[in-house]
Amino acid sequence: MTKICVPVSGGDAKAARKMADKAISSGADLVEIRADLIKNSDIGKIRHEFSDILRKSIITLRSKSEGGASDLSVKERLDWIREAIGIEPAFVDLELDNDRRLIDESQSDKSRIIVSKHIFSNEPVEGVSKILRDCCSLGGIGKVAVKVEDVIRCTDILAKVDRDQLSNHAIMTMGPGSEISRALAASIGSQIVYCALSDNEKVASGQLLLGDQLRVNSADSIIVGLIGHPLGHTLSPAMHNAAFESIGLPGAYLTFDIPDSSQVKDFIRTASKLGVRGFNVTIPYKEVAFSSVDSIDNDARRAGAVNTIVADEKGELRGFNTDIHGFSEALRANGYNPRNKRALIVGAGGASRAAIIALWKMGAKIVIANRTPERAEELVRSMRVFIKTLSLDALEKEKPFNLLVNATPVGMSGFDNASIIPDDFIMKADAVMDMVYNPLETPLVASARKHNVKAIPGLDMLLYQGAKAFEIWTGKEAPVESMRKRLLEAMKK
Ligand code: NAP
Repeated sequence: MTKICVPVSGGDAKAARKMADKAISSGADLVEIRADLIKNSDIGKIRHEFSDILRKSIITLRSKSEGGASDLSVKERLDWIREAIGIEPAFVDLELDNDRRLIDESQSDKSRIIVSKHIFSNEPVEGVSKILRDCCSLGGIGKVAVKVEDVIRCTDILAKVDRDQLSNHAIMTMGPGSEISRALAASIGSQIVYCALSDNEKVASGQLLLGDQLRVNSADSIIVGLIGHPLGHTLSPAMHNAAFESIGLPGAYLTFDIPDSSQVKDFIRTASKLGVRGFNVTIPYKEVAFSSVDSIDNDARRAGAVNTIVADEKGELRGFNTDIHGFSEALRANGYNPRNKRALIVGAGGASRAAIIALWKMGAKIVIANRTPERAEELVRSMRVFIKTLSLDALEKEKPFNLLVNATPVGMSGFDNASIIPDDFIMKADAVMDMVYNPLETPLVASARKHNVKAIPGLDMLLYQGAKAFEIWTGKEAPVESMRKRLLEAMKK
């Protein structure tokens, strides 16, 4: 079982003890007393403050060369750590390179020694494997933390570092994209995982918060995440983590920012082999995702784009497009049935494809208008559907429409803030659907409400596509109202 450890420091030993109490009462198995970050950290003071919880404590005096703050001389460090071993905490952390003498002295009883190494260079995987093996052979636990620049290097390390026959290892990465190394700690058999009480108290980038770490600390936790670039501020983690929390399911939703499209396919394979159950895929990788899976459901095939992937029990990757379900469910939930109704979709990108398939399945009569009419023609051709396409200028003679759909980014925060569909179209419609979800009330939605026309906001589509993805990954009914509540809260931030 992976032990969850919270590093504590926060000023002096008293402040560190306060943090330790909070961590232990919140469910941490261990605290790491980061003596290098504590003022006046003599061992007497630490023993005094932590006497009753030493059996739940790791004492660490991280040196500067290993990313810490201690600059004691070799002799001072030796004396200090000898004293630390003497007060018998659960573990003392010794550095593979700096504490060789103490490591050698401890070999007769190394059960309470962690031998650790922080790797800041671009060490090849074979080198990391060798260091991990050395740490494991010299300590009760062998710990290696590797600095990485992105999630690709992180998963490469996790997948390729040789842990064969090593039952006492703890391996993790630090830096951008490292959350997955912490979320998968139990799956990859790490003995200890380090996490933080709050965002301000993280001592390494990539650490999860204690609450999240507790939720995923078993090998059968459901780890999923969003692949895209750039990811910026995405609402999906808030929505899905709320779903896991709300139904008490062990799981977490992470983000995987991958700048290079040529790495997406390998990443999906590697991460799923490591234990990631599923993915959402967003711009610009929905087409790459299409060619990265082993099987594709009918909706995704028709759309030519995959936005949700699940790794099934056999490890096969199955691709879905839940935007289509999200669109039709948003209409249904708002009490609008487009059967035999005239529907206008403005836009000819990926969002438009999802709207076309959803409306086609619901029996609407569809017309598409796009700023660049050739792109709409190409879309219809590639989807092999017979749908009238128009330029925006030619729309006038086609009105009225029952349903108006905006499938362009017009109306999005920071974009053009006029409605792309004129008021005289809106006044004559039964319903309007804006796929833009930020802001909640777009110019199109506001105009529809002003004219007492049913307005369906893009947030509903986002919510229902997310709910469908959650059901695909977990097999459980999605707690839609908890997800909506968290989405609305996240939008206010
Ligand atoms: P896309 O593939 O880039 O397509 C954008 C479309 O909008 C193109 O047809 C483009 O016309 C048109 N367009 C862009 N700027 C325009 C302007 N100033 N005036 C007129 N037309 C303009 O984007 P997408 O993936 O389809 O996404 C479109 C919108 O839907 C985005 O805001 C996205 O966030 C939203 N969306 C929402 C959900 C949801 O769950 N609510 C799901 C998917 C997408 P040209 O062909 O002439 O360039």
